[in-house]
Amino acid sequence: MPAADALLKDIFGFDGFRPGQEEIVQAVTAGENVLAIMPTGGGKSLCFQLPALMREGVTVVISPLIALMRDQVRALQEVGVGAGALTSGNTPEETDAVWEGLEAGTLKLLYMAPERLASGAAMGMLRRVGVRLIAVDEAHCVSQWGHDFRPDYLRIGELRRTLDVPLAAFTATADAETQAEIVQKLFDGQAPRAFLRGFDRPNIHLMFAAKNAPRAQILNFAAARRGQSGIVYCGTRAKTEGLSRALNEAGQTAIHYHGGMDPEDRRIAETRFQREDGLIVCATVAFGMGVDKPDIRWVAHADLPKSIEAYYQEIGRAGRDGAPAETLTLYGPEDIRLRRNQIDEGLAPSERRAADHGRLNALLGLAEALNCRRQSLLGYFGETEITCGNCDLCDTPADTFDGTTAVRKALSAMLRTEEWFGAGHLIDILLGADTDKIRQRGHDGLPTYGVGKEYSKPQWQAIFRQMMGHDLVRPDPERHGALRMTDAALPILRDETSITLRRDTIKAAAVRRPAVK
Ligand code: ADP
Repeated sequence: MPAADALLKDIFGFDGFRPGQEEIVQAVTAGENVLAIMPTGGGKSLCFQLPALMREGVTVVISPLIALMRDQVRALQEVGVGAGALTSGNTPEETDAVWEGLEAGTLKLLYMAPERLASGAAMGMLRRVGVRLIAVDEAHCVSQWGHDFRPDYLRIGELRRTLDVPLAAFTATADAETQAEIVQKLFDGQAPRAFLRGFDRPNIHLMFAAKNAPRAQILNFAAARRGQSGIVYCGTRAKTEGLSRALNEAGQTAIHYHGGMDPEDRRIAETRFQREDGLIVCATVAFGMGVDKPDIRWVAHADLPKSIEAYYQEIGRAGRDGAPAETLTLYGPEDIRLRRNQIDEGLAPSERRAADHGRLNALLGLAEALNCRRQSLLGYFGETEITCGNCDLCDTPADTFDGTTAVRKALSAMLRTEEWFGAGHLIDILLGADTDKIRQRGHDGLPTYGVGKEYSKPQWQAIFRQMMGHDLVRPDPERHGALRMTDAALPILRDETSITLRRDTIKAAAVRRPAVK
């Protein structure tokens, strides 16, 4: 058997492994069941491609994206590896070539779309051709509650049982719930060897800013990086078009991309972005899954991403070449409201929606972090030993203060109103506002009525955001989004512990908008 590092160099042309790759390659080659969680751009494909070459027989790779499969097959063929794909996009000649390769025993990697597993013929064929390993890319697609759910992924467990060969599953979605679901559905609940490594992308600089003049903030960020390739992720299709127009008017070269464009235009946009230097693409999250451009120098989020995983995946598209890359994520009260609504309007059962609110809180916690962002971010993914020095809070430590009194006032306003109200009404109570709702419910008679006048409304909003970021409160889908306390709030309410808040974001909430430079 050829040595792994010789193949790494001779076939793939790499001088060494990336963090985490070597251990995974060894385990997969040795025939262990493996679940590997690696960030986007971490180099997952090598972790099954290399073992496929080192093992006898054929490796089946299940992957959800035809374009990605075709790219990988082409790249493998170019370096002389026998690889083929069976997808709905094949020409008859391509399919014939795959069959011939299988019959002749020259094919080492067979890529398949999960839909193919639906036919009994495919199962029979895979048994016959000597499959010795199953690799599953984007394994989180098996999660019924995830946004990428692909029903045919549920057939993979059956495939594994039928073929009785080891399975290696890969994903960049790391949260504990999704992992448990993967283990259940792909490995029949038998815990595989798990690798959660190499999540850190130390070359990516992390930065968040409160959204106070979104267009100017994005234009200024892009202007300071003129000539570099970058992505601006936007929450709506209309915004991708608006921002790209604004960037062009500001003398940059920008295009837009979203799922509402016809496939041909999307393909043109992808190709331009891939080929041209210094192009900016303003896109919805529809852009990116199949993009493998190593020198994307920056990623900006004009709107808050939908979860901490989505955030990490999206910023992970920057700096794949390892050279310095920068990110900026804007967030404001409307983003949070929008994301909350999306969760509440989803079809998931209420305990699932409550958990999603918790995940959104994790992202807010990152946005309003007190200390190093990389530590909060990677801590969420289970990595603890992080040195950073490459985020805005390492550059300039946050200005903090003891926020216990403010938080206790907010919590007691919640308690006095039996946790039946959202932040807007609670803030009105704290400010002693004279509204119909307050009068009708007699909330002007509460002991907390008017006790929070030291802060303005936007400042209280910032305090509530930080309370969410600390996961002290969550909206309850069963109560139309009324805020409820989590267990973490109780010690503060009982005055058993104190809480530190960021002064800068509260101050910023009261400040005017910056102009376009
Ligand atoms: P993902 O984990 O997102 O699937 P890929 O497998 O596409 O990532 O790898 C991302 C990029 O990193 C690719 O361009 C790949 O060629 C490159 N890469 C992977 N492993 C190594 C390595 N050991 N050394 C250098 N580059 C690598």
